[in-house]
Amino acid sequence: RGGESGRINRFAQPDSLTRVYAVASGKGGVGKSTVTVNLACALAAEGLKVGLIDADIHGFSVPGLMGITDKPTRLDEMILPPVAHGVKTISIGMFLDGNQAVAWRGPMLHRAVEQFLTDVHFGDLDVLLLDLPPGTGDIAISVAQLLPGSELLVVTTPQAAASTIAERAGGLSTQTEQKVTGVVENMGPMTLPDGTTLDLFGTGGGQIVADRLTEQLEISVPLLGSVPLDTRLRQAGDDGAPVVLSAPDSPSGFALREIASRM
Ligand code: ADP
Repeated sequence: RGGESGRINRFAQPDSLTRVYAVASGKGGVGKSTVTVNLACALAAEGLKVGLIDADIHGFSVPGLMGITDKPTRLDEMILPPVAHGVKTISIGMFLDGNQAVAWRGPMLHRAVEQFLTDVHFGDLDVLLLDLPPGTGDIAISVAQLLPGSELLVVTTPQAAASTIAERAGGLSTQTEQKVTGVVENMGPMTLPDGTTLDLFGTGGGQIVADRLTEQLEISVPLLGSVPLDTRLRQAGDDGAPVVLSAPDSPSGFALREIASRM
């Protein structure tokens, strides 16, 4: 099995040319998966070789957001991931028939993530993104162990109450010794057609999380940007046509492309 661990290490070693980002959030529904697929597509559109692993095994949503209905193919012992919008993508959802629930416990979840890293042939990548499950559970810790060189991106909403929870997701990095690259605020204030601003979830949460993590971790954790609430982002997700490609100049598409350029 030496070859397998060698392949993991190719991502993990400090001198590896692949940057690995694990995208985390304190709780579900903040748009973590939506942000992850859009950052992956934006980076691929910039000409980078990008891989995407849906590590949210129980709550997988990446195939739908990417508009992928293809199944992975097999070549000898390897699994070849479907490519969508220039991104090599793998999700447990691609191995299930229909909309089954995944009822697995910790060790099997760990094994699934490990298989994604060892048996899926990504080839040389500039960037690998992982969509983590919400919270600080088994998978987040497995990813940190399997990919010790991976960095964390924390997604949160502008709501002050959400920031304490998001901070916990970033705080995990002290135990896993991962670098926190930055915070992405999602569902930020949107400008309405009459020019007024709707801040459904309040303002400032992303900056609060960035400031608190900077203080707690004693390294600079920047707010990489704020993605506004945007019907087009939601619609694009439903259509499997990520907004950074289908409406790149929409408020959310623009913000997400800016964030990708700061990674
Ligand atoms: P998570 O991965 O954190 O559970 P999702 O990415 O599944 O969250 O997003 C939850 C829902 O919110 C989805 O229906 C998505 O389309 C919607 N959504 C996410 N971000 C935005 C946004 N900025 N504006 C409007 N809808 C959004």
